[in-house]
Amino acid sequence: MLVVDPSYEIQDELDQTSLVIRLEACGRICYKSEEKITKDSALPFVKKIAEHGHNSVMEMAVVTLGVQCSREQADAFLLLEPKYLFIDRVDGEMLVTGSIRSFRELYQRAGNTVPVHAMVSFLVDGHPYLFEGVWDGGHGLSEGSNIEVRKLDLQEVEALPPHLLARHRFSGVKFVVNRAVTHEIVRHRPCSFLQESQRYCRYSQDKFGSQVTFIKPMFYEEGTKEYLLWQKAMEDTEQIYLQLLETSTPQAARTVLPNSCKTEIIVYCNLAEWRHIFTLRTSPAAEPSMREVMIPLAAEMKERYPAVFP
Ligand SMILES: Cc1cc2nc3c(=O)[nH]c(=O)nc-3n(C[C@H](O)[C@H](O)[C@H](O)COP(=O)(O)OP(=O)(O)OC[C@H]3O[C@@H](n4cnc5c(N)ncnc54)[C@H](O)[C@@H]3O)c2cc1C
Repeated sequence: MLVVDPSYEIQDELDQTSLVIRLEACGRICYKSEEKITKDSALPFVKKIAEHGHNSVMEMAVVTLGVQCSREQADAFLLLEPKYLFIDRVDGEMLVTGSIRSFRELYQRAGNTVPVHAMVSFLVDGHPYLFEGVWDGGHGLSEGSNIEVRKLDLQEVEALPPHLLARHRFSGVKFVVNRAVTHEIVRHRPCSFLQESQRYCRYSQDKFGSQVTFIKPMFYEEGTKEYLLWQKAMEDTEQIYLQLLETSTPQAARTVLPNSCKTEIIVYCNLAEWRHIFTLRTSPAAEPSMREVMIPLAAEMKERYPAVFP
């Protein structure tokens, strides 16, 4: 068995890549198949994911659009009560931020509404593969509608005033933590999540070192009586898990895996939600293993966005 410390990483680098590369990099965490990433692998991976309905992968990239349209068109759009989109009006322009999934599903629900059509048509022009199976060609719906759509790049989003920055800037963080911590993190409903799947990952395989990885418990000092008891419990569990895998599937064998099991999870949300998460999860009332990663993460985020984090 392997014992590792918990950790986290703000996924800045992925913010600089194309949408499809971002989606693949995040999506592969479920299968722990990052070694399969090549320069040509992103497109087929994402297409297959979309076909299979593994929808949360399509939440892992957002775009911010600037939309100029008439007041009536904006009202028609807002009347739809679009879900999972962040919408603000700035100097006569609508700022709309949402994930690929939210735009896909909005189009399926209300693609005949002119502003929706114009936004998705704009996205399809740049990324047709992300709307395969959804986009129907549009039947010239936005012709003559005078709607102008543009994409804000990251620098533009970062230059927004604090209250808009908090809503429109999304940030992804990859955590390596125990299963108890992931169980708590996923309670934050506005976030998108992808996590290592104990159904798909078979820890008896070579790529996992034929062993189970556990997170070092922050509660017990190494070498103490309690730590040794914990260690024995993990060793015994690993043996039973590996034995079960000889005759059953990972989804069956995983039923013996404990909270200490190492899990990778990506949490993706806007800065306003991160602010809320930090308020709850760095407080003395929060679970200590959660605070162990959230306190340093909150400090790092504050350094980057001092106007957003108090
Ligand atoms: C110290 C501590 C102890 C806890 N103990 C327990 C426990 O014993 N058992 C347990 O089950 N959970 C427990 N929780 C989890 C807690 O109840 C929340 O589910 C979790 O912290 C998610 O936070 P949230 O609901 O504020 O916000 P999020 O899900 O992060 O949502 C962000 C914001 O969206 C809004 N929102 C989202 N969904 C809704 C909705 N459906 N209705 C209205 N507003 C919504 C709210 O304004 C909310 O502030 C605990 C959490 C903490 C920090």
